[in-house]
Amino acid sequence: MQTDARTSEVTIHVDLAKIEANARALTRHLPDVAFVGVTKVTCGSPAVARALLAGGVTAIGDSRLANLRRLKDDGVPAPLWLLRSPTPTLAAETVRVADVSLNSELETVRALGAAAVVGGRAQRVVVMVDLGDLREGVLPQELPGFLDAAERISGISVEGIGTNLTCYGAIVPTAANLGRLVELGEAAERQLGRRLLVSGGNSSTLWRALKGGGIPERIDNLRVGESIVLGVDTVTRAPIDGLHLDAFVVEAPVIECRVKPSLPSGEAAQDAYGNRPTFADRGERRRAICAIGRQDIVPEGLRPLDPRVEVLGASSDHMILDVEAVDPPPGVGDRIAFIPNYASVLQAFTSAYVVKDFTPLA
Ligand SMILES: *Cc1c(COP(=O)(O)O)cnc(C)c1O
Repeated sequence: MQTDARTSEVTIHVDLAKIEANARALTRHLPDVAFVGVTKVTCGSPAVARALLAGGVTAIGDSRLANLRRLKDDGVPAPLWLLRSPTPTLAAETVRVADVSLNSELETVRALGAAAVVGGRAQRVVVMVDLGDLREGVLPQELPGFLDAAERISGISVEGIGTNLTCYGAIVPTAANLGRLVELGEAAERQLGRRLLVSGGNSSTLWRALKGGGIPERIDNLRVGESIVLGVDTVTRAPIDGLHLDAFVVEAPVIECRVKPSLPSGEAAQDAYGNRPTFADRGERRRAICAIGRQDIVPEGLRPLDPRVEVLGASSDHMILDVEAVDPPPGVGDRIAFIPNYASVLQAFTSAYVVKDFTPLA
């Protein structure tokens, strides 16, 4: 029986050596592509950033200035990329903490240029192009005009173009849309008269590069988070050969373990989240309740390490497990371990109630 009070808290364990090994395997596979390692799912953890760099990524990206600020203050030795466009009023802070930012509005680029002139350091800008996923980016036909205007703004250095896929519209990278990106990149190079960077997307483009027919050679940059830290492809959520799938493990303590009917009794209305749940009658079953809920994780995104344990559901602070097959059954205070998906890792790092432990689970 463990006595440390911390064992009664929900904990996310991070195995930095596995994150480093995953990064190394992927960067070695694509030696001609520069990887921006993305830390946003861990709220800009400096320890995770260092593991990514040790594994061969050459820059660190995050969507939030607060996270980049944390990385910079911690002395993480790499160029920092701001992946989500700032607003014009955040231009000064952006220029202070980000070496590179992704942009799709000239008003913001003008504000960045003005702040960069004051700060005495050029802001490197990657112009985002929307190739159909309908999140950020100018439309392809708008790109030449945008580049022309951005190029004239003092304090701004146009580094290249980029795209983002499989985020909002669930559009996957294909020979067609990546081919279009390369065409646009080559046209931009002719327009500006110099070599530019072509940033071909996120984990979904990486997967195509590894498995799905390859990516054009001219793509020389990818911004990768999920596939490195979770070891999965983001199009199919299939494991990537040779990568660790358990760099993160979530643990939560059992607070009740009793045999109960599997059907609720009484008059049914809505659950705590406004849903009308349905239940299958499996007779009386042994169920455990863990002290974890939606305020800590996304319950649907937790896979119990012990395959005999089944997640039945959760409210904001209780999670119900079927443990009928576990013999002997878990006792009160025992900890149940789960592999979290991306949404659950994000929620665990964002939650003030979850202990972040950077020592691997023994
Ligand atoms: C989050 C993000 C990424 C990384 O996405 P993954 O799917 O985690 O690899 C890359 N680029 C941008 C612009 C992002 O917002």
